[in-house]
Amino acid sequence: MSSQKEKKIRRLHRKNIWPSMLTLFLFISAFVFIICSMFILSLVNLATNKLEYTTENAKMVAQIIEEENVGSNEELIQLVKEMQRILPNVQEVCISNEENEVIIKSGSSEPKVENELVVTGLDCRIYLLEQSDNTLYAQNGEVKFDTEKMIDVFLAPDDEVYDIDKPLLYLSFWIASPMDENHQNVFVKSEIAVKESEVASIGIFAIAIIGLVIGFAIYYIVFTIGLIRDQRRLTQLLYLNPVTGGKNWTYLKVKGEKFIRKSFRNKIKYALIHIRMNKYQSFCTCYGAKEGTDLLELIYQELQSKISKNEVAVHYARADYAMLLSYDSKEGLEQRLSNIVAGIGAARQGRRLDFCAGIYEINNGKMDMDAMYNNASIARSALHPEGEEWIGWYSQEMQKQQLWERKVEDTMEEALQRKEFQVYLQPKYSSREEKLSGAEALVRWISPEEGFVPPNRFIPIFENNGFILKLDDYMISEVAKQQAEWIGEGRKVVPISVNVSRAHFTKDDLAEHICGLVDAYQVPHEVIELELTESAFFEDKEVLLETVRKLREYGFAVSMDDFGAGYSSLNSLKELPLDVIKLDAEFFRGIEDTEKGKIIVNEAICLAKRLDMKIVAEGIETKEQVDFLAEQGCDLIQGYYFAKPMPIQEFEKKAFNI
Ligand code: C2E
Ligand code: CA
Ligand code: CA
Repeated sequence: MSSQKEKKIRRLHRKNIWPSMLTLFLFISAFVFIICSMFILSLVNLATNKLEYTTENAKMVAQIIEEENVGSNEELIQLVKEMQRILPNVQEVCISNEENEVIIKSGSSEPKVENELVVTGLDCRIYLLEQSDNTLYAQNGEVKFDTEKMIDVFLAPDDEVYDIDKPLLYLSFWIASPMDENHQNVFVKSEIAVKESEVASIGIFAIAIIGLVIGFAIYYIVFTIGLIRDQRRLTQLLYLNPVTGGKNWTYLKVKGEKFIRKSFRNKIKYALIHIRMNKYQSFCTCYGAKEGTDLLELIYQELQSKISKNEVAVHYARADYAMLLSYDSKEGLEQRLSNIVAGIGAARQGRRLDFCAGIYEINNGKMDMDAMYNNASIARSALHPEGEEWIGWYSQEMQKQQLWERKVEDTMEEALQRKEFQVYLQPKYSSREEKLSGAEALVRWISPEEGFVPPNRFIPIFENNGFILKLDDYMISEVAKQQAEWIGEGRKVVPISVNVSRAHFTKDDLAEHICGLVDAYQVPHEVIELELTESAFFEDKEVLLETVRKLREYGFAVSMDDFGAGYSSLNSLKELPLDVIKLDAEFFRGIEDTEKGKIIVNEAICLAKRLDMKIVAEGIETKEQVDFLAEQGCDLIQGYYFAKPMPIQEFEKKAFNI
C-alpha cells in the first residue's frame, strides 16, 4: 500500500469525534445558559418591582404619619385603617424612638431589630419577620426568595391555587423609614402578594426550560451514540479481510505498532512472520476456488486460535499470512510454528498441506511494518524450494543482498547500453598437445561505480528477472563479431563457447534466434559453441530437445555444462543429442587422492566416448590433474592451470602469438 493511501486510511480511522461532540455540547450549554439567565432575570425583575412598589408605599405611609403627628396607638390604628383603603398591602405600623424602642403601634406585632437587613438600592431598611413566616431574604443587595418556602406556599390552600387573580403567596416584612424631625422611626409591616397567574407563568416558563434541557440532553446523547457507532463501523470495515471475514493487514499494522512500542518497555521480543501455504494454486485447480477460499478461512481460524491477546495473525494476500508473535528463543518460536502448522494439518483431517515461513526479528521499533513484512518475505523466499528447511530467519546479509539486487536492477539496462559488460575469454587446451584449441566466453561487468564485478554477483539476479536473455544475446553477438573480425584478419580462429541460460528454453524459436544473431556477422556456425546447463532439462523437455536438434542442424556445437554438479542424471545424456560434455570442476576436487574419484572420471569419459561426445574438463588447476586427464583421453582442459579468463586483447596475444 502506498504511504499516501496508508495516511488517508489512518486519518479516517483516527477521525476524532470529540470536536463534533464538544462543539455541540458548547452550543447546547450556551443556549441553556441564555434561557436560564433570562428566566432568573425575569424572576429577579418581578421581585424587585414588587419590593420597590412596597417600599415606596411604606415611605408614603411614614411621610403621612410624620405630617399627621400621631401621638397614640388609637390615632395610629385609625390612620392605618384609612390608609389601607388606598394601600392595601400596608398591614401594621409602629413608631419607635431614637433607641429603636417601639412606642406606638397599630397592631399586635412589632419589628425585631436583630432581623434588620439592608438592601442596597433601596433607601429604607427591611426587617424580616419570624422565620416561620413566608420570608423574603436580602443578600449582598440582591433580593432572593427562599424557594423552598415559596413552594410550600405555592402548594398551600387548595381553594386558592386555581384562582388566577387571587394572590397565592404573601410575603410580609417590616420596612422602616426615619422621620427627619424627632429622630423617630416609622415601621410599616407590608405585604407582597404573588398572584396565581404570576406563579403559573413562572411555572410554565420553568417547565418549558426543563423540557428544553431534557430534549437537548437526549438529542446530545443520541448524536454521540450515533457518532461512536459510525466510528466503530468504519473501524470494522477498515480491518475487514473480505476473503476470511477476519482481520486484515491494516489491523496488524495498527495493533502491531502498539504492541511493539510496549514491547520495548516490557522487554518482550516480537517477530513478524510471513507464512505461506505452498501450491495453493494447484490446490484450487484440484478442488475448486470455493474449497480454496474455505481453506484460507480455516487456516486463518487456526492461526487465530493459537495466538495470545498480545499477538496478531491476519490473512495478507492469496495464501500468505502475517503473524506478529512474541517469543523467548528462536527454537521455541520454530517449535511453536511447527505446532501451528501441525494443527492446521489436523484440522484438514490428514490432507497434506505444505507451508514455508520467513521470520523477521523485530529489534527496531521505528521500522515500518511493511518493510518488516518484506524482510520476512525475503527470508522466506531465500529458502530452497526443494530443501528440508521450511522456516528461514532474516539476516543482515539478506538485506545487503536485497539492496545490491535493487541497485543491479536499476542500472543493468544502462550498463548494457554503455557496454559495461565485457567479454572475457578463458582458453581451453587440448590435453595431449597442450595446445590452445578453444575458449569459453565469460562475462565481466566493469562498472564505473562498483569496479570489477564477477558474474556470480549478477548472473543469478539476471536469471531471476529475465535480463539474462538480453545479456546472453549480447554475449553471442559480441563473440560472433569478434570471430568475424579475426576471420576477416585471416586468423585461424578456435571455437568459442557461449553460455546459454536455461531461461531461453521457454522460446520455441531459440535456435532461429541464435542463428540470426550469429548470421548478422556472417560467421561460420562451427566457430560458435553453445553451453547449456543440465538444469535446462527441468524446463520444457520437448522444447529443449527440439532446440538442441535444430542448433546442431544449423551447425552449432552444443555442450552440456557443469556435468556432475548438482542433479546430474545419466538419462539426460541418453536423451540429448550433444556434442560436448563439460565435466564440472567438482569432479576433480582431490582426485589425486581418491581411487573412487578416478574411477568415476574414467567411466564418465568412457561413456562420453562411446556416445561419440567430446569431453572438456573444467576447473583444472594442477599438473597432476592435467596428466591424469590426458591419460584418460579427455579432449580439452579448461582451468587456471593453463589460463584464467582474460580480456580479448590478452587472448589474442595467446591465441595468435601477436
Ligand atoms: P561456468 O559456465 O561453469 O564457468 C566456469 C567458471 O569457472 C568461470 O567462473 C571460470 O572463471 C571458473 N573457472 C575456470 N577455471 C577455473 C579454475 O581452474 N579454478 C576455479 N576455481 N575456477 C575456474 P566465472 O567466470 O566466475 O563464471 C561463473 C558462472 O557464471 C559461469 O560458470 C556461468 O554459469 C556464469 N556465466 C558467466 N558468464 C556468463 C554469460 O555470459 N552468460 C550466462 N548465462 N552465464 C554466464
Ligand atoms: Ca560454462
Ligand atoms: Ca561450467
